[in-house]
Amino acid sequence: MTAPSASIIDGRALAEKFRARFAEQIREISRRGGHVALDAVLVDEAPANAPPPDASGAAKPAAGWGASASAARVYAENQRKTCAELGIDYRLHTLPHHATFEDIAGRILLLSSDPSVSAIMLHLPVPAGVDPFRLQSLIAAEKDVEGVNPVNIGNIVYGRSSLVPCTALAVMKMVESTGVTLPGSHAVCLGSSDLVGKPIAVLMMRARATVTTCNSKTRDLPGVARSADVLIAAVGKAGLVTADMVKPGAIVIDVGVNRVTDPRTGKKVTVGDVDFEQVRHVAGALSPVPGGVGPVTVAMLLQNTVDAAARRWAS
Ligand code: NAP
Repeated sequence: MTAPSASIIDGRALAEKFRARFAEQIREISRRGGHVALDAVLVDEAPANAPPPDASGAAKPAAGWGASASAARVYAENQRKTCAELGIDYRLHTLPHHATFEDIAGRILLLSSDPSVSAIMLHLPVPAGVDPFRLQSLIAAEKDVEGVNPVNIGNIVYGRSSLVPCTALAVMKMVESTGVTLPGSHAVCLGSSDLVGKPIAVLMMRARATVTTCNSKTRDLPGVARSADVLIAAVGKAGLVTADMVKPGAIVIDVGVNRVTDPRTGKKVTVGDVDFEQVRHVAGALSPVPGGVGPVTVAMLLQNTVDAAARRWAS
């Protein structure tokens, strides 16, 4: 007899459903004479042969910054394509690699006060020595489509924020897609970062789940995880969640994104925090990596963008 298999929560299919929904919203905004746009700010990568930073006050790139900034450019190009498919005007504001805090802040403040702009996001990383938190705090709260301004993060506690951090929102949509009854269920979130774990915990609380959040100091992590009806892994450690950590039939959402070498092929692959092959025989529903939380997170960013435009162009 073969072991039972979890139903797979297909993030790509779910994202497609959301896209179909907001395509109609975009048409409605155009009918009202408005348009949907996303203004993204990106600090360019340092050229490979860039001179070492001097004492002029120019921002110093952090170790590995070039590679990550390049990843941000690829991400921005993908965003441009996705937005074009949906009829969203994507405007990328690229600043040079030596941009200072004042340069980036100036651009964000300009966009925040421009009435023709309804949605703003800041690509990370920013150069070392520049505080992303202070920059995110400058994005006008009603245009902050990543939900990273502390005003929006704070407001989710009160259930008043319409712009919720995209990954946390994606996790909630994926859990809801399983039809589980959240009130009274035990939700355990492995990882309690400001942008992922904590907002998920608050949203779960608001859904009246009983919530436990774990961090690197949690005692008996396997035992705590095993008590979850809904288990969310958001740590960034490949293979952290094994079959013995999952209650039979639990819903497991894998947020982790880790690059590892596949021992069979020697090639780099992307995996989550959950040992998919083991856990699929225990969980009731399980999201894969890739093809799980990632595409739904992108859909939530676009949903926030469309919602922000809808408010801007409300008659
Ligand atoms: P982070 O800021 O590094 O936070 C990691 C959290 O995990 C911290 O709370 C840390 O605890 C906790 N932790 C570390 N080791 C642990 C252990 N052994 N047991 C339990 N908890 C442990 O990471 P993040 O930004 O939240 O991201 C987490 C993962 O999600 C990463 O793989 C990231 O790439 C991925 N991610 C995916 C998406 C997406 O759209 N798919 C979006 C965002 C992030 P302490 O607080 O004690 O340090």
